Amino acid sequence: MRNLIVANWKMNPQTLADAKKNLNEIKKGIKKIKKTKVVVCPPFLYLLLLSGAKQGNVLLGAQNCFFEEKGAFTGEISALMLYDLKIGYVILGHSERRKYFKETDKIINKKIKMAIGARLKIIFCIGETAEERDNGKKSDVLEKQLREGLSGISKDQVKKIAIAYEPVWSIGTGNNCSVDETMSSVLYIRKIAADIYNRQTADNIKILYGGSVKSENSGLYIKEARANGLLVGGASLKAEEFVKIVKSAE
Ligand code: PEP
Repeated sequence: MRNLIVANWKMNPQTLADAKKNLNEIKKGIKKIKKTKVVVCPPFLYLLLLSGAKQGNVLLGAQNCFFEEKGAFTGEISALMLYDLKIGYVILGHSERRKYFKETDKIINKKIKMAIGARLKIIFCIGETAEERDNGKKSDVLEKQLREGLSGISKDQVKKIAIAYEPVWSIGTGNNCSVDETMSSVLYIRKIAADIYNRQTADNIKILYGGSVKSENSGLYIKEARANGLLVGGASLKAEEFVKIVKSAE
């Protein structure tokens, strides 16, 4: 299975010039990458402006899309619009969407279905908060997010989905999850997926880790924690650092 490394730029950088510069440096830095798929997810506004030039080894993705096809939904972007513009990937269920935009598992499930219908590939994020972890609720939270998020998704459709395990307490905090804990979460997620589908289907699902990934720790998640890739926030805004992260997965 090829590793997948996804850059989530969130609401950054603040100018198109900086976005172009960062993307160009990433493209240049990963020219020789063979075994790793790299997807960069800039803010919507830059997405189209960046998508014209040849992307080399970099694929482009969106950070969100809406659960309806079209219509009176001010400020939203549909999965079909992304597909039409040849944007092949979308991140769904990110904890910041859950927190600031009150996205529930049900809403995320509707978005996943719409994105699958539009032939997009999905990076589906799940993860527990610090409070849930401290209260021993981590497994229950992960299972609920998985079962509800994947509800009604067939074993054929789930091939389009990579699951990103992102403990909320590790996102943007510098407090990355240990290799052991990540490995046990990755195994647990696969076990639930096997229960929903079957072992073979579950074994073919990419499970990524995300949360304060840096080049010093990135390789360990792939080589030791058995993650099939990474979702990188802050560090993906520094091209040199992001390129090192990608190289650590090769
Ligand atoms: C993220 O937002 O998905 C993320 C992992 O952020 P960071 O790498 O900054 O923790």
